Amino acid sequence: MTQHDRAVVSLTGAYKAYGTGENRVAALAGVDLSFGAGTFTAVMGPSGSGKSTLLQCAAGLDRLDEGRVELAGSDPAKLSETRLAVLRRSRIGFVFQHFNLLPSLTARQNVELPLRLGGLRPDEGAVNRALDDVGLAGRAGHLPGELSGGQQQRVAIARALVTRPDVIFADEPTGALDFGASRGVLALLRRAVSAHGRTVVMVTHDPVAASFADRVVFLADGRVADGLDRPTAEGVAARMTGLETAAC
Ligand code: ADP
Repeated sequence: MTQHDRAVVSLTGAYKAYGTGENRVAALAGVDLSFGAGTFTAVMGPSGSGKSTLLQCAAGLDRLDEGRVELAGSDPAKLSETRLAVLRRSRIGFVFQHFNLLPSLTARQNVELPLRLGGLRPDEGAVNRALDDVGLAGRAGHLPGELSGGQQQRVAIARALVTRPDVIFADEPTGALDFGASRGVLALLRRAVSAHGRTVVMVTHDPVAASFADRVVFLADGRVADGLDRPTAEGVAARMTGLETAAC
């Protein structure tokens, strides 16, 4: 078995609905998906197709109504809140659209945070390497407000990588960035996979962002509607247009 055959995250028969009666909507209507170790997957689909719900449930931030999640060897539904928090802190990295850095902490302190929260004394070498890897060694003492959006997102990536997580969940990581900053952030996520064997699952609307992934999974109405290996931006855009037309 190669490293790529081992699923780090999988969902089986994933079902989750919101609302009641006539207003009931199945955000996930029976999803089977797995994300292999050392792979980069983009999750796309029209607004309301279930992308955020998929990410939240796969990351153990929300629970399914039916079906099963396996996340870094555990079923989040079977863990206590405390154990789930430990799993999230130690095995999972998160990157959000709006960076979610603590504004009163420096770049270095933000990167150290997951280690401190895990009760570890931050390893200065590891923190320096994480900052260096994202090209911010010279900005370690700056507050987020003193950094550009692209630099802030790079701090967030260093923070996500410093614990050497099994999987990084990224929710629209380039949604608030201009084209140049987006490419820098995507190249870092790509490198985390290709050079360091991390696993990345990224929700995005942007076909160019998706083209950095190994595979694109398209959702529609809470189901997996399509998939594309070795995506190009043009190929992704064409599939998206098809899905959006079908949804109208
Ligand atoms: P996407 O991320 O693709 O836009 P979501 O996962 O956010 O899709 O939403 C899928 C469906 O579930 C949508 O119809 C949305 O309105 C509904 N939904 C999501 N979260 C909630 C919620 N907290 N309460 C009610 N409905 C929700």
